Amino acid sequence: MKNFPYSRQIINNTDIKAVEKVLKSDFLTQGPVVEKFEKKFSQFVNSKYSTAVNSATSALYIACAALNFKKDDILWTSCNTFVSSANCGIHLGGKIDLIDIDYETGNIDVNLFEKKLQKAKKRNKLPKIVIPVHFSGIPTEQDKIWNLSRKYKFKIIEDASHSLGSKYKKNITGNCKWSHITIFSLHPVKIITTAEGGVATTNDKNLNIKMQMLKNSGITKNKKNFKNKTKQDLAWYYEQQILGMNMRMNEISAALGLSQLQKVKKFVIERNKIANFYNKNLNSKFLLLPKLRKIFYSSFHLYVIKIRSKNYKFMQKKLFNELRKDNFFVQVHYLPVHQHPYYRRKFNLKNVDFKHSIKHAESSISIPIFPGLKKKILLKICNKINNFFKVNQ
Ligand SMILES: *Cc1c(COP(=O)(O)O)cnc(C)c1O
Repeated sequence: MKNFPYSRQIINNTDIKAVEKVLKSDFLTQGPVVEKFEKKFSQFVNSKYSTAVNSATSALYIACAALNFKKDDILWTSCNTFVSSANCGIHLGGKIDLIDIDYETGNIDVNLFEKKLQKAKKRNKLPKIVIPVHFSGIPTEQDKIWNLSRKYKFKIIEDASHSLGSKYKKNITGNCKWSHITIFSLHPVKIITTAEGGVATTNDKNLNIKMQMLKNSGITKNKKNFKNKTKQDLAWYYEQQILGMNMRMNEISAALGLSQLQKVKKFVIERNKIANFYNKNLNSKFLLLPKLRKIFYSSFHLYVIKIRSKNYKFMQKKLFNELRKDNFFVQVHYLPVHQHPYYRRKFNLKNVDFKHSIKHAESSISIPIFPGLKKKILLKICNKINNFFKVNQ
């Protein structure tokens, strides 16, 4: 490997054989493998149901639609996320607002969130849906967010794109103990991959029936759910009950997913080992490293270092460029959502309300972390960063 990205897929021969087997089978789409993948996925995250789709972006869309999010409804999500977590609400005609983060974890700050809810209640602008994002793999404080949802009557979709295999207070991410739906991304940089792909998990049977229809043009072929009971004995019959699209996962992806699913635990353990290595060997006092309290177990999708210096903005840019020059394909996560030109035009949210997200974007760098990264490379990265701060004080 010449180029070391911040994260990447790990594919072995077992994965390749699984895909080959599907390619030689009768079904490339709408066959038995997707169903099996959904079942196994639910078993892994301890949820009753799963709906597999062609991306996390689609999963967010069907989750919002299943929760009846409509024109002029309000959706809140973290300011520090990939744009999909907010876009889903706009696709359904709604309005977006953002929640600032806790600088250390990168997750929404629950105290700020509660204050924002109190204010919104007075102005009659409470959100219908809130989407907390498990940034970098660190789970959000879902029990606290759940309590707020009871008080302020909003629905919760956890965006767990980063956190397959994470745990909070011994609850595995995706079990929906403190949310209505949880969504995952299976993009190659995430914990496991199906090339493109996503999953929405829930314990609510009706939400799952709806999500299954939404990904399939609003159609059901399940006799038990037909509106027209007189047609139940017709083998060819199916009916469209709501408006959907084609967001289905295909059999090839599902086969890869099934094979990858068996390795989640191993991948996450390896990612944690690398994180521990960095925590030990990055030793500059100019760095803030991700050290977590015991109640959190992170999948470490990202390993984010933050620069502690008056000059953080300048130092970030300089260190970033030096690492890229050495073929370490580091990245910054994320440009705060409201600073994208589209969001500026459409909502004009003010920087003063998102200070921590802005500082996070200007002082952090995601450095390489993925299973199989050799100790030699990790040491090289550590030396490089430690030396950088010796030279640039
Ligand atoms: C990757 C990601 C998504 C979108 O995932 P896709 O599968 O590429 O659609 C959404 N939210 C977050 C937080 C992500 O990191």
